Amino acid sequence: MPPMQPLVVSEGVALQTLTPHLRLLEDTQGALTFDAIRVTDSLNPLQPVPADQTNFGFSRAAYWVAFSLHNPSSDRLRLIVRQDYPLIDRLDFWQPNVEGGWTHTATGDRRPFHSRPLNLRDFVFPISLPANSTQTFYLRYQTAGSMNIGLSVSSETAFLPQLGKEQILLGIYYGGFLVLVIYNLFLFLAVRDRAYAYYMGYAISYGLYFGVHNGLSFQYLWPGNPWLANQSLVILLGLTLIFGIQFVRTVCCGPQLAPRTDRVARFLLYLLLPLTAIAPFVSYGPMILSLATLTLLLSILFMVMGAISLLRGSVPARYFLVGWTALLVSVVIYMLKTFGLVPHNSFTHNAFQVGALVEMVLLSLALGARVGELQRQGYTDQLTGLFNRRYFDEQFPREFALAARNGTPLALLILDLDHFKAINDRLGHARGDAALCAVGQLIRKQVRKPVLACRYGGEEFAILLPRANRIQAASVAERLVKVVAEMELEDMSLTVSIGIAACEQGNVASSLRLFEAADAALYRAKQAGRNRYEVALVSNPAVGPETPALAAAIPR
Ligand code: GH3
Ligand code: MG
Ligand code: MG
Repeated sequence: MPPMQPLVVSEGVALQTLTPHLRLLEDTQGALTFDAIRVTDSLNPLQPVPADQTNFGFSRAAYWVAFSLHNPSSDRLRLIVRQDYPLIDRLDFWQPNVEGGWTHTATGDRRPFHSRPLNLRDFVFPISLPANSTQTFYLRYQTAGSMNIGLSVSSETAFLPQLGKEQILLGIYYGGFLVLVIYNLFLFLAVRDRAYAYYMGYAISYGLYFGVHNGLSFQYLWPGNPWLANQSLVILLGLTLIFGIQFVRTVCCGPQLAPRTDRVARFLLYLLLPLTAIAPFVSYGPMILSLATLTLLLSILFMVMGAISLLRGSVPARYFLVGWTALLVSVVIYMLKTFGLVPHNSFTHNAFQVGALVEMVLLSLALGARVGELQRQGYTDQLTGLFNRRYFDEQFPREFALAARNGTPLALLILDLDHFKAINDRLGHARGDAALCAVGQLIRKQVRKPVLACRYGGEEFAILLPRANRIQAASVAERLVKVVAEMELEDMSLTVSIGIAACEQGNVASSLRLFEAADAALYRAKQAGRNRYEVALVSNPAVGPETPALAAAIPR
């Protein structure tokens, strides 16, 4: 094979990939010396990289790389050679020096951060190419993790603006994480829901994990500690998965809505806890492989859990599923890249990272939806699905004040099932509950917003009708009495008595008075033989005392 042509470089060259210009030798024993390589290369040049593939997955071998640059101009060129994957354990670089010898730089993330020529997150080697010259450069890669050779060359003047742009993008990225963590921290302090704590644990370990990937954690957080630089990846991945499991189980209500899937998730959690604890002390390769496998397994499991809880009516699960899908797609792309099945480029390299931030935003929305749901649960009667008394007690004075201020009527219906104790005694409490539930559904079907229907207590219901007068309230009550009596229940017949009171033209002083009036009307309905409604005789200060004639005028 003819020797490869050197790459011609000029002052304007910016981030030119070196991949097609690389010559490569796989040193399976890792025993060859630089001198041996140089002799080999001059007699029998190293071979070009096969099909532009510079990702070799996990390999025990050392990889020797050579490339030649040609400067045709009459000026010395100051250039930057950059290796963009910062997790290489040992990276050695040789460049010719002015004395005719070689300058050797030994760096990599198994060596302290200051072993790099420049204080940057990835490996950046400044070189200087004399006028009208061709020079060859050598690198040696050895790593326990993914063997990613991502070399590029830029002129110094083109590199600096490029670096500035990348720093801005990284700042936006980690800024996004930080904002999400702080925002949810405040929500956690306000709401005290542990889902927020899991979310923060998840976001922090995930953010740091990506910081390790980008080389930023090593640069800024533990530059003197190569051990942590290497082990932090597995620890953080383990923590991310642990917090992730707890978050998803909580936000999707796993134990309640998807108990079987939840048991599997819990099992994986118990597996992960010791695995993460021993992670820093066992060899990196098998550890990252088992964590990667668990990540894939969990991704699918979470998908199943989200789908089940969505089908069972969970609103947060909706946001969760969209977020998780985004992440899953990006994880798959990234895994394929890590194992050398798709090429290493800026899309495959960053897909995971962008997918994760999108996911984080959506998970934060899922938390918001969860709070809404919890609040709704706090206002909902479990048995009937109607509002509960707590909600009624909050809303009733509000509606009353609103009606008084606007001068609009407000009607209140109080319903009490007839001889309900007898039904309980005869058929049992469970059947009684079923009947209550049926009445609740019936009421739900009969009322629309702004009508507010709630289960006030045992077998009593209250219905608030804003902007309805006595006549309108009476027609609602009439319909309810009728439909309850016509309800088809197995060997049981149910009837209801209703008391009605309405506040019109300021005839009632307070919400309490209105309630008392409706309750008194209910008592009269019971007295009059049940299965009927009665309208309260409320005296109207504007119109004078209510006459029985008026009450009788209301249709029965
Ligand atoms: P009436 O109102 O027509 O005078 O007769 P009643 O039998 O309904 O009398 P009362 O209102 O005093 O009794 C209410 C009964 O409703 C008492 C209790 O057995 C039953 N009850 C109350 N809450 C529940 C509940 O949540 N589930 C069931 N199954 N029964 C309940
Ligand atoms: Mg009753
Ligand atoms: Mg009662």
